[in-house]
Amino acid sequence: MSKPTVIKRVNQFVLFAAWPDEFAGHILLSDLRDACPCAHCTGEEIMGQKVFVGMKTLAPGMNELRSLVPVGNYAIQATWNDGHDSGIYTWEMLRSLFEEKRLSDATLDEIRSQLG
Ligand SMILES: [Zn+2]
Repeated sequence: MSKPTVIKRVNQFVLFAAWPDEFAGHILLSDLRDACPCAHCTGEEIMGQKVFVGMKTLAPGMNELRSLVPVGNYAIQATWNDGHDSGIYTWEMLRSLFEEKRLSDATLDEIRSQLG
C-alpha cells in the first residue's frame, strides 16, 4: 500500500506529498498534468497499437490544479482549470511520479523566489 499520508498543493506550480515510509517530495503540477494517465492523454491500446483519441494541446489553465479528490481507497482524481478531469492516478503511479520528478531544493527555492 503506497498511499500518501499528505498531499498538498503548495502554490500555483508545486504539489507536495509524503508517505508513511518517510519518503516525501515536491513535484511540478505541470509534471502531474503531463503524466495524466487517461486515454485522451496517453492514447489507447487497440489491437496492439497505440491510438490517440485526442491531441495533446496547450489549453489555458491546463497546468492549474482545481482539485484532487480521492477515488475509493486506491487513487486520486485530478481536475484542472481547463476542465480536464478524467485523469485518475493510483497511489503507485503517484509515488513513481514523485520518485522520478522530485524537485531539488534549489529548484524549489527558485520557484519560491519567482513567486515573490
Ligand atoms: Zn488526461
